[in-house]
Amino acid sequence: MIEIKNIHKTYTMGKVEVKALDGVSLKIDDGEFVAIMGASGSGKSTLMHILGLLDRPDAGQYLLRGQDVTALSDEALAVVRNGLIGFVFQQFHLLPRMSALENAELPLVYAGKRHLREKARAELAGVGLQDRVLHRPSELSGGQQQRVAIARSLVNDPVMLLADEPTGNLDSRSKAEIIAILKQLNARGKTVVIVTHEPEVAQQTRRIITMRDGKVIADAKNVPAGGSAVSAVTPESGSTVKDLLAERHRVAGKIKFLDYVRQALSAMISHKMRSILSILGILIGVAAVIAMLALGTGAKVSIEQQLQSLGSNLLWLHPAHGRSGAVALESTATRFTQVDIDLLARLPHVKRVYGSVTARAQVVYGSNNTNTQVEGTGTEYPAMRAATPVAGRFFTEQEMRAREKVALLGTTVLTNLFGEANPVGETIKINLINFKVIGVLPSKGSGGFRDQDDTVIVPLTTAMYRVFGKQYIDSIYVEAVSAGDIDAAQEEVRRALNKQHRLKADDTESVDIRNMSEIKSTLESTMKTLTMLLGSIAAISLLVGGIGIMNIMLVSVTERTREIGLRKAIGANNKDIMMQFLIEAVLMSFIGGIVGIVLGAGASVVMKLAAGWAVQVSLFSIVLATVFSLIVGVVFGLWPASQAAKLNPIEALRYE
Ligand code: ADP
Ligand code: MG
Repeated sequence: MIEIKNIHKTYTMGKVEVKALDGVSLKIDDGEFVAIMGASGSGKSTLMHILGLLDRPDAGQYLLRGQDVTALSDEALAVVRNGLIGFVFQQFHLLPRMSALENAELPLVYAGKRHLREKARAELAGVGLQDRVLHRPSELSGGQQQRVAIARSLVNDPVMLLADEPTGNLDSRSKAEIIAILKQLNARGKTVVIVTHEPEVAQQTRRIITMRDGKVIADAKNVPAGGSAVSAVTPESGSTVKDLLAERHRVAGKIKFLDYVRQALSAMISHKMRSILSILGILIGVAAVIAMLALGTGAKVSIEQQLQSLGSNLLWLHPAHGRSGAVALESTATRFTQVDIDLLARLPHVKRVYGSVTARAQVVYGSNNTNTQVEGTGTEYPAMRAATPVAGRFFTEQEMRAREKVALLGTTVLTNLFGEANPVGETIKINLINFKVIGVLPSKGSGGFRDQDDTVIVPLTTAMYRVFGKQYIDSIYVEAVSAGDIDAAQEEVRRALNKQHRLKADDTESVDIRNMSEIKSTLESTMKTLTMLLGSIAAISLLVGGIGIMNIMLVSVTERTREIGLRKAIGANNKDIMMQFLIEAVLMSFIGGIVGIVLGAGASVVMKLAAGWAVQVSLFSIVLATVFSLIVGVVFGLWPASQAAKLNPIEALRYE
């Protein structure tokens, strides 16, 4: 059954070499009941770990059912541990957050035989725990815990049971129970090897091997009290290593994804607080990204809409700023007057023209007042700026010439001054001068940097001479005959103005001429910067969330190193461990991501409704946030898990 030849294992502690095993050779047959004795530090546990394939020897040969197992891969070793060997530890090593039943059935999961769950229940009944299956380890006595561990070791029908001081942590009554169980198992034909330093335990077995300083110093048959030296039962046959590996190859696909998910879920649920904190980090990050990008995109879209309504065949002219030393001066040579407007209106590629002056002013109606932008424009304004009044009318050429005190209100000013009431025909004061309201402008929408509806329009002449006392026009808007004529119109305008103002023909500096597509692209690039700014703030918060997950994952994996060791000891391979942590990490970041998306989208809707901001949740931001959160979860969860999974089971189990 087992044959080891000249096994060596040396631990190096700094400069000191400890020969834990120094050339041990042994043969144990099927159905034997063996005790290994010896002083503390004599190498008993080391030997057991090697027999149980939890550790590899430095040198020597190990034949298990005729097959040399020292050369097997880690993966194959996991299969053999899972199927042929049952291990019982002094410290029980039950998973604390799982019930007795879940603990006992764990090896079945890794064997791909979870449909045999009832087997776990039967094994628990076999050790007398049928009415404790749903108890957690903390709700069980030491003896009961060890019995769960024995049930766990038996659940896959191993041919050999290895127990390292199984009674070391128990009171004498529990001790007797455990010994009785082991004895009974051997009587049924199982090979049982048990390490003990207690003679009364060893006396129950049929063979006692004594070790000292890593060597076997005695190996003798023993006749237990009231028994015989030879078992009467034919030993269990069980499968060979080759059979087992072949069979596992067949069922490999059956270790189902759902089992991993179940394991991950139960791990998450058993550490609720930690899981919630991990999820929270990702959640906030994702929500921030979604909301910020929604804000950016929304602003961009609303600016684009406004620009659309401006039309792309508009030119915008204003006197350039000359320079005198370090001081910027408005060029006196190119101040605009009505003469310029009339001149430009006659050009062949020009369809319409109006002049504009703007300034802020205090506007009062009754007891309401507001500080707003007052703009003086020409009569072409409604046609050129898509601003036909929605109530009342625009002012006429006649009123313009007569410098009449008439005004049109933007919707924001309207609400501020009149609320719901009809303003047409009412009298308001602009900078203490009485104006008659003759119309209401259509809403241009807010968004971008300025509320376009927070404005009052009056005739240009009235604004210049009666309200602001300006002699010159601030800027002139020119509409080309068509969008295709915009360049020709610009050229014409430039030439005409240069001539009119006695500038050099090739002067392109004195008058600043911009067309709307230029303004559009400037605005668009500004918006892009803004979106990027918002996006990077959000990305930073996502990163911070990611670092949060990383911390928690690192702590979690480190804390669970012993769990990883136990899982490996009962048959999980690296892939199983990785899958478990991967699914756990992905599940958490996925939940965080989904809740974050909902929350971010919700926040966007709230911003839209409450603050009236233009927001638009984009698919891009959702994909970005989801992908990023998944990457964060996987990278920061997998890396520490792979570190832990690389440890051999014993190192991981010993981890403090
Ligand atoms: P026993 O179980 O018989 O008490 P062990 O097999 O645990 O003894 O240990 C045998 C020797 O190997 C002891 O001297 C112990 O200090 C040493 N040893 C065991 N494990 C390690 C380890 N991981 N690192 C260093 N030394 C170890
Ligand atoms: Mg020991």
